[in-house]
Amino acid sequence: MPRTLVTGGAGFIGSNLCERLLHEGHNVICMDNFITGRPDNVAHLIGDDRFELIEHDVTNYVYVPGELDYILHFASPASPIDYLQLPIQTLKVGALGTHKTLGLAKAKGARFLLASTSEVYGDPLEHPQSETYWGNVNPIGVRGVYDEAKRFAEAMTMAYNRYHGVETRIVRIFNTYGPRMRASDGRVVSNFINQALRGDDITVYGDGSQTRSFQYIDDLVEGVYRLLLSDEVDPVNIGNPGETSILEFAEEIVAMTDTSSKIVFKELPKDDPKVRQPNIAKAKDVLGWEPRVPREEGLRLTTEYFRGIAELV
Ligand code: NAD
Ligand code: UDP
Repeated sequence: MPRTLVTGGAGFIGSNLCERLLHEGHNVICMDNFITGRPDNVAHLIGDDRFELIEHDVTNYVYVPGELDYILHFASPASPIDYLQLPIQTLKVGALGTHKTLGLAKAKGARFLLASTSEVYGDPLEHPQSETYWGNVNPIGVRGVYDEAKRFAEAMTMAYNRYHGVETRIVRIFNTYGPRMRASDGRVVSNFINQALRGDDITVYGDGSQTRSFQYIDDLVEGVYRLLLSDEVDPVNIGNPGETSILEFAEEIVAMTDTSSKIVFKELPKDDPKVRQPNIAKAKDVLGWEPRVPREEGLRLTTEYFRGIAELV
């Protein structure tokens, strides 16, 4: 049975990954300091004796007794409002946390998978973005703390691969949504759905002409799992190419939830990328992967999830 460490395992993506790995027969160690995640996300896994939850900040030395076959490094604040409020922690977990977990992978002879991001492409001058594009990032802008940390993390991962021979994988994740997102995480999907459910104004930033491409969590988990088992060392985009403007997206949410909410326009955050859409030719070719869940279906499942939480509160 493989033994696998998931950092950031109590977060939105990490908790979904822990579940999948258990399902695939792994013993899973979930490590998290709960800075943006919560134990509740994995509470249902606690009874399983193949699952272990450890509270730890991975920017400090990481100790795990026994053998490890895989390390999936997903720890990092990920929503813009989180990393704007936690700039130093975000830089540290991308830099020091990646260094510590790579060191652990080297010591254990484990395969390492880094959760990178489409943000390494910044405000892209190539559209859609393929893995060969080097990006257009403002290093000293407010989003730089996240984008540059992830760019450093990719460089560090490749250095451990080339210099120390550690087996590494890098996934560049595009905007992902689904159950276990925090209702208050400030991301557009959670904001719009929760605003619509409450009947509050739907806040479109700027004129809403900026675009994003949203993928459902189950598609991402499938892509990550396939990449983990593949031989591909260079980064692979995992995202859904279905692109929408943010204004069209707001209209879609209004129609879907049949809400009385009005769409209002607010100031566009600094350095907000104007477009984003993955080129997934490589994932198709190398992993035989492509997204399966249509946006309508994914949004329905996510809305049900948020409705359920609202009833609990
Ligand atoms: P999340 O905030 O829900 O999860 C991140 C988890 O990491 C949280 O549980 C948090 O407590 C933990 N964490 C942060 N710093 C830590 C530290 N120093 N030590 C231990 N744990 C720490 O966010 P998410 O959306 O699940 O993102 C997970 C990963 O995927 C991140 O690395 C993020 O950069 C990447 N990613 C996410 C998206 C997306 O659309 N959700 C897109 C691109 C990349
Ligand atoms: N956005 C918006 N209203 C909101 C939250 C976000 O118009 O209430 C916009 C934001 O400016 C960006 C897009 O939606 O253009 C996606 O934002 P998100 O925070 O989800 O992630 P990003 O892709 O910017 O990292």
